[in-house]
Amino acid sequence: MPELPEVETIKNELAPHLIRDRFVGVDLFWPRVVHEPSPEAFCRRLIGQTIIDIRRRGKYLLFQLSGGQTLILHLKMSGVLLLRDASHGLENHTSAIFRLDGGSDLHFVDQRRFGSIWLTEDENKVIGKLGGEPLDASFTPAALGNLSSKRRVPIKVLLCDQHTIAGIGSMYADEALFAARIHPLRKANTLSGDEIERLHRGIVKVLQDGIKHNGASVDTYRRPDGGIGKAHLEFQVAHRHGEPCPNCGSPIQRVSLRGRGSYFCTRCQPDGT
Ligand SMILES: [Zn+2]
Repeated sequence: MPELPEVETIKNELAPHLIRDRFVGVDLFWPRVVHEPSPEAFCRRLIGQTIIDIRRRGKYLLFQLSGGQTLILHLKMSGVLLLRDASHGLENHTSAIFRLDGGSDLHFVDQRRFGSIWLTEDENKVIGKLGGEPLDASFTPAALGNLSSKRRVPIKVLLCDQHTIAGIGSMYADEALFAARIHPLRKANTLSGDEIERLHRGIVKVLQDGIKHNGASVDTYRRPDGGIGKAHLEFQVAHRHGEPCPNCGSPIQRVSLRGRGSYFCTRCQPDGT
């Protein structure tokens, strides 16, 4: 699933192509991808609007439009946004094609069909309940300590809770917890001040590294030009079940936590619960 570094990469790579372009057509092949308004109203209202800016909030992409509305996309499990020239054929699993006057079309390809699109004047209806951004200056060790001290859930669950911190998912939570040498099942409210400091440092580092390497292509993630990201090549534990821990050589373990695989080293991240 695309997380903060993947969505940030997509935003950075789409912006130079699409800002100042105008929507001239929309083809909806999977109308249920549009959550608001109706598919018909969506197409009618979008066409003619110019893209003023593209932003990211958590795992959401926000296209700010000339008419005062915002086009919001969430890629969920498997959504991919690809820039194609107008002559490009239709590929499997395409949910929508946005046609723009700048020479590129934007294809929303989504194998699992969980991706979502909104067109709204009030973006807070969609993103208003998100937690803070982990790469903002306001995300300090003290802020992380405050968030975790009130919660008895496993720290991995807290890190992936979008209403607590926005943008972190399973892969980068595993990497941050390994960097901090904290077991993913440790209860959030049992972390010491020193552990919170290490975890904060780990979160910031793994997200910045993820962006630097243009996101992680462990599954369906692709960059807008169709190329892959390379962040997964730097992963220490995530998606490396059975491989030797880069720190101690023990085989990396995998447990299922709330339906998602969690990867960690039992020797470097002892279970302190
Ligand atoms: Zn280890």
